Amino acid sequence: MSLVTRFAPSPTGFLHLGHAFSALTAFGAAQAAGGVFLLRIEDLDQGRCRPAFETAIFEDLAWLGLSWSLPVTRQSEHLARYASALKRFAELGLVYRCFKSRRSLSAEAANAPHGPGEAFTGAPLPEAEECARLAEGQAFAWRLSIAACQAFLGPRWERLSFEADGTRVTAKPGVLGDAILGRKDFPASYHLASVMDDAAQGVTDVIRGEDLREAAHLHALLHALLELPSPRYRHHRLILGPDGRRLAKRDQAGTLRALRDAGATPEGLRRLLGL
Ligand code: GLU
Repeated sequence: MSLVTRFAPSPTGFLHLGHAFSALTAFGAAQAAGGVFLLRIEDLDQGRCRPAFETAIFEDLAWLGLSWSLPVTRQSEHLARYASALKRFAELGLVYRCFKSRRSLSAEAANAPHGPGEAFTGAPLPEAEECARLAEGQAFAWRLSIAACQAFLGPRWERLSFEADGTRVTAKPGVLGDAILGRKDFPASYHLASVMDDAAQGVTDVIRGEDLREAAHLHALLHALLELPSPRYRHHRLILGPDGRRLAKRDQAGTLRALRDAGATPEGLRRLLGL
């Protein structure tokens, strides 16, 4: 089977050097294997996504010299797909409503793969308390219960594994705690949607930064629960800013637009990134 990979940015800011490295690495792997490079717009955080950032993604990637197979998919167009998975998880008792903190209830917590989450483990509230909170209209997040998943999978739990960087890895699905899969008013999160989309798009190789190494453990569990094939994972090094931290969208100086406006060329950036 030929290699299918993707770049999956969120239009919540302008792309920076770290995105360029990720996109060029995935694109290069697809080219080298005669495979397919897809572009997926991960626009679940509707409060922070902007059409202008999406337009800029296309412009910046084209400027870098990348091209991608069509169609470009947008996660906001597939909410019904994620909702049906979440509903099934609820029916099976694999997710529970968590009313915990404002932060855990925010769209940002659900859709920022690199945080601001902390490994949270909880349990459903007693029924009477849950009913009372629901009657009050309180917000909640749907969290995947690692304990319930372990019970549900039985002996298969111990055998969960995936291939990362050429090695078979035994999955530790609880490493991120009880991850958020949705919210009261929104049926998806980064983890749920990206796993479902990679499968729906036939992605064979997920190539992304090593800051998402732990996410693959949770994703292996989601593959088992959703009966989806597990892709291979490749993790690349991170591009760090002058302060030694991973570049983030708030670092305006590192955006591809700012670099281009300052006279950078795509060739110069490739050299700078060691490509
Ligand atoms: N939208 C995610 C990000 O921008 C994609 C992560 C992934 O490639 O799975 O980090």
